[in-house]
Amino acid sequence: MRSRILIVEDNQPNRELLSDWLEAEGYEVLSAENLREGFAALEKPDIGAILLDVQLGDEDGLALAQWVRKQEQLRNLPIIAVTAHAMVTDHERVIKAGCNACVSKPIDFGLLHREITRWLGQPAYSPPIS
Ligand code: MN
Repeated sequence: MRSRILIVEDNQPNRELLSDWLEAEGYEVLSAENLREGFAALEKPDIGAILLDVQLGDEDGLALAQWVRKQEQLRNLPIIAVTAHAMVTDHERVIKAGCNACVSKPIDFGLLHREITRWLGQPAYSPPIS
């Protein structure tokens, strides 16, 4: 079965870019443009990972990551944050919220590919040690 990846990104050109790239890589893609659509998409089965834009307009994408980590059925789902902020403090905030990894914009697709294949193969999410 092909892995399904959920993209949560408010910016339409970015969403299309990510979606086209993932499909070319052989993934099945679901897209959401805000938190409401993101939560709704997570009711669908067999999602293998989330690519999560941290800044969803005026919504905080990390709210979705925090929620996922509290759900019995979803707690191990890999979440890769995509952020325009490359600062170390933002990276820490993203990891503390429950994301597995953080990739900065503009996206380095080689790096994103490595993170996706790395985390899709992980059996379980482990919280960061703080
Ligand atoms: Mn955004």
